[in-house]
Amino acid sequence: MRVLLLNAAFNRYGGVQGHGGAQIPLNLCYLAAYVRRQRPGVEVRILDAEAEGLRHEQTVERAAGFAPDLVGITANTCVFDSVIDLTALLKRRMPSAKVVLGGSHPTALPERTLAECQADFLVLGEGEITLNELAGRLAEGPNGWGDIAGLAFRDAEGKAVVNAPRPLIEDLDSLPMPARDLVDNSLYYPPPTKNVSSGRSTLISTSRGCPFHCGFCSANTVWMSRRIRSRSAGNLVEEMAECVGRYGIASFNFADEFFTADKARVLAICELIRQRGLEVTWVCSARAQKLDRQTLQAMKAAGCRELSFGIESGSPEILQRMDKRIDLEEAKSVISAANALGIRTHAGFIIGYPGETAETVRQTVRVAKWLDVDIAAFWIASPLPGSRLWEEANANGWIRPGARWSDFSPLSNNRSVLTIPTLSIDRIRQLHRRALRSFYFRPRYILRKLLSIRHGYQIANLFKGLLILMRIRK
Ligand code: SF4
Repeated sequence: MRVLLLNAAFNRYGGVQGHGGAQIPLNLCYLAAYVRRQRPGVEVRILDAEAEGLRHEQTVERAAGFAPDLVGITANTCVFDSVIDLTALLKRRMPSAKVVLGGSHPTALPERTLAECQADFLVLGEGEITLNELAGRLAEGPNGWGDIAGLAFRDAEGKAVVNAPRPLIEDLDSLPMPARDLVDNSLYYPPPTKNVSSGRSTLISTSRGCPFHCGFCSANTVWMSRRIRSRSAGNLVEEMAECVGRYGIASFNFADEFFTADKARVLAICELIRQRGLEVTWVCSARAQKLDRQTLQAMKAAGCRELSFGIESGSPEILQRMDKRIDLEEAKSVISAANALGIRTHAGFIIGYPGETAETVRQTVRVAKWLDVDIAAFWIASPLPGSRLWEEANANGWIRPGARWSDFSPLSNNRSVLTIPTLSIDRIRQLHRRALRSFYFRPRYILRKLLSIRHGYQIANLFKGLLILMRIRK
């Protein structure tokens, strides 16, 4: 049996090129590693059409050359239009191959996904065990699918069937290391906003899940839980050592929703990195709360070069509507401490959330400058399926008629999706572009950036960042 896991091309079909870098499809590497371990007789390959810059027709030809029995495609909302088209082409070229989709979009909207796409199956939520069971069932011959937890499919009448949810994997250390040997690691690079070295870089996952419940975020739906499950420090650092020794990768972008949730674990990871003498650099996400100087120092000593905070808004009312639960004064003090230690700081902000006005956007830009972060990422509010904002937008008729899934990208030149009563889509776009210009084109900021250059990659970051700003149309 042959299983092909596919990352569909996205930038070619929408999105602002380069703003997300070219990231390894880590979820596919996990799936491949798990199926390969559980079923040694199954041949598994990964085709990253996005990183290779393939057109759908080229992707289909490459896939057909492998003659897979099962094709698995990862689908978030912004890439879903592309996945619909690619699936149709795959089904036409290889009618006997089954197609299964996984990822945030099918997990949030299983019935609608099956109605809009020709895929045979959906894997909902955490995919490793479900995909493995599906591959086993297909290898054994056609049987029913109703007892595979976490699977959705169409019955004989074409009606969508969504099985019981798959229980979460409690011990993440029990998973094999992601199969980086199945991708070309030289193709991947982080966005300039997350690049902290001139060498190769990769995504790495240290935990799954988030206990918070921010209105715009679909993490709780994707993980089907508000619980954080974490890998042990030993298991994580083993993977980092494998990346250094086997793939020559010494820079990491921690893909976790909330890396700094558990101080003791963070300190244990930092200590182990130091004990093993790993010369690595890394970037992680953090809540700007309860992050003390001792932890920041340990992180810096273990290679942390950038902290990424979700601040989201400068308006207390908007923060409350988002249920963001952040104290801006506390955020300021954590960011100042990180800046003082020489850890680059990055903050994300959302423009156009329900309740937004021109004044609240101005407040957000003022707060971004006041926080004194090195990088401010401004996104346009997008009602991602699986989030409370999606529910609210649908209940109030705030989804722009005719919006395509690729329009849900929070940074794109497409027309955005969320129509709120207080600001028009055009006005939000104008305020978003103005926020970017106001933050980045300050003479003092530019001078500070130029004076802080110590390494070649920082010059590359500046040029790439400028290029992305230029690609964002007015
Ligand atoms: S935005 Fe971040 S903190 Fe909020 S729910 Fe999502 S992952 Fe958690």
